[in-house]
Amino acid sequence: MELRLYDTLTKEKRGFTPIDPSNVRMYVCGPTVYDFAHIGNARPVIVFDVLFRLLRHLYGADHVTYVRNITDVDDKINDRAARDFPGLPLNEAIRKVTEKTADQFQADVAALGCLPPTHQPRATEFVLPRADGRTDMVTLIKQLIARGHAYEAGGEVLFDVRSMPDYGALSGRKLDEQKAGARVAVDAHKRNPADFVLWKLSSENEPGWESPWGRGRPGWHIECSAMSAAYLGGPDGKDVFDIHGGGLDLIFPHHENEIAQSRCAHGTPAMANTWMHNGFLQVEGEKMSKSLGNFFTIRQLLDKWPGDVLRLQMLMTSYREPLDWTDTRAMQANLELEDWAHVVFPYFGKDRYKPSNDYSPLSIIKTLADDLDTPNAITKLRELYQRAKRGGSSEKIEFAACCEFFGFQNLDKPGLFQFGTSGIGTGSGRLLFDNADRVQSLRAAYANSAPPQIISAITAEIESTGVKVEIGQDSTITLVLGSRDLIDTKINRLVAERAEARARKDFKESDRIRDELAAMGVVLKDGKDADGKPVTTWEIAR
Ligand code: AMP
Ligand code: ZN
Repeated sequence: MELRLYDTLTKEKRGFTPIDPSNVRMYVCGPTVYDFAHIGNARPVIVFDVLFRLLRHLYGADHVTYVRNITDVDDKINDRAARDFPGLPLNEAIRKVTEKTADQFQADVAALGCLPPTHQPRATEFVLPRADGRTDMVTLIKQLIARGHAYEAGGEVLFDVRSMPDYGALSGRKLDEQKAGARVAVDAHKRNPADFVLWKLSSENEPGWESPWGRGRPGWHIECSAMSAAYLGGPDGKDVFDIHGGGLDLIFPHHENEIAQSRCAHGTPAMANTWMHNGFLQVEGEKMSKSLGNFFTIRQLLDKWPGDVLRLQMLMTSYREPLDWTDTRAMQANLELEDWAHVVFPYFGKDRYKPSNDYSPLSIIKTLADDLDTPNAITKLRELYQRAKRGGSSEKIEFAACCEFFGFQNLDKPGLFQFGTSGIGTGSGRLLFDNADRVQSLRAAYANSAPPQIISAITAEIESTGVKVEIGQDSTITLVLGSRDLIDTKINRLVAERAEARARKDFKESDRIRDELAAMGVVLKDGKDADGKPVTTWEIAR
């Protein structure tokens, strides 16, 4: 099967041929860890997770190396550390900020169903030469100076863009245009206004590393050139690798400058063979911004929705298109997953999909192989759902395998996607209404494997309104008003009284009892037993 990917550099969709099929190599720019990641940051993580899964399927799970870095050196981090931990020495404060934020990020993306990348290097560990000899930033910068591509000036080491004749090829910006259009005042120490920082000196209260150019810290772009070479550049760190990805805001200057650094330091014609960029996410039709009040962290959304909902919603739009995040669409994705879960739950989560299985979710893979066409793959998934709904276990297993391939996690628990609140007992209506948001959070907490203390806190909040929380087998949540035993006894008694009323054709009384049970949150199902005798069963209204 041919995998075709759109390449930003050549601006065309091309057949993908790995340099080494036994080790397909992909690098994606990861988060800068100074605060909770927002829902826009989740987009590249999910998109490239789908690509990672696809590559693992096509080339074998052990034949793909996926590197996503963690940027833990950045001026935004320093500011945050000084603000949040003013009493601590800066390095310690920085570590506190970055470790906490990086852990939050890992928990967030795990709840979104993303596999951990093969390597997640942290920038701070790649600044100075390393004991294991993997590429580091200081050595790369030295190489750039030695090869005539970088120079020291005004307390900085700068990349000399003029030294690279085809600088600007990725973004299509010409150096002359940049000069003419440059709005920023030309820094006097730069040979060219487009020259960018590889190293800058640090003041005493900024983090710094001793280097040949004084105590300082790296520029942002060199971090990714070093970390990609460290894990994907082969024994000498100079190899070209297969795929480089990130959001399209990174095309310029970040990726343009990564290319310049890596190619010039290694003397190669390319840094990566395919450049992929996801489109931007906006919220309710507007650019996400704190001032507009439409800024959401992944965590805030995970407090409300199972990660599967966010994942499905994200993949309904083609990765290169802009994506409009709306609450209505989250609701729709949730409803769709609930339907799927009701059909697939007995079959899901049993490792139906494994890249090594004979069985493969072929129609979905084929669609995804066309430049990650997730919207059409979801259309295929819907067709498989329809077949599974009507079909037998083999259709259901096929659907389960496809859902697992997509990275959904909770389809064995339909109750976690159920909408609305169910209760049982006398007078539960008001309590259901009052607890609706909390019950939704509780479902999300279970779905997203929230820590036990969070789950107990939400439960305690609900129970403080005078109900008990009951978790059913398929993770349905029921609010119980009163003792469950007494309620069950009462229901059984009413059901029996209603049967008697029906037997003596007192339909007024039997209807009254039905209404009384409905008010307790109970629905009745009248049927016949094997001998044709009428029987009534009951269940909790959902
Ligand atoms: P940052 O931490 O800002 O460097 O961003 C991390 C990743 O998220 C990069 O790949 C960005 O391109 C991507 N990103 C940031 N904001 C958005 C957005 N609103 N929509 C899609 N991707 C985004
Ligand atoms: Zn990067």
